[in-house]
Amino acid sequence: MIDEANKTFEKCGYEIQLRDNAVKPFSAPTLMDVHITDWSTVNCASQPTRTGDEAALLDDGSRRSAVTTDINVYFVRSFLVGNGLPPDKTLAETIAQDCFSGMPIGDSANSGIIVWSEKVRGNFKRFMRILGHELGHAMLVRGDWGDEHKNFFGQAYAAPFVMKHDVDEKSVQFDLNECTSMNKDLTIFQGDP
Ligand SMILES: [Zn+2]
Repeated sequence: MIDEANKTFEKCGYEIQLRDNAVKPFSAPTLMDVHITDWSTVNCASQPTRTGDEAALLDDGSRRSAVTTDINVYFVRSFLVGNGLPPDKTLAETIAQDCFSGMPIGDSANSGIIVWSEKVRGNFKRFMRILGHELGHAMLVRGDWGDEHKNFFGQAYAAPFVMKHDVDEKSVQFDLNECTSMNKDLTIFQGDP
């Protein structure tokens, strides 16, 4: 997944690395199936607040990297909205302060990417760029974009762009305007000098 994300990011001059080259397991039985934001009813422009599960998952410092500018990625068993599946078939979501309100400390302690691991694993070829897509949401400065599934001119991304709404195996690159926007606000992520 990181290799696939790197293929998309390298054209913008970024390299994605896994901290300590290790995935950190954690045990939180009540968070195996996470109640996520219902993206069929809200978007970033409406500045949603996180669900209780999202906040519980992301705010626990024991599960986060000690480096507060790292992006934390959480793999959970499944996603729920209410008692059912997410109406808009969300496979992964990025929670950051430029989209959500009510994050008490901000991206350094309350942000993250959450991935529905069973769903992605079950169809990996199609969804192998989902991490690249979500990292795009994390890295792009929303003030530059509004809807990050659309280009600078307001047109919905299609193949070969990785910010296409339904990312798939043909989604392989960012455009140059996106490269320029990435990490400009230095909030969730800071590159080494
Ligand atoms: Zn997206």
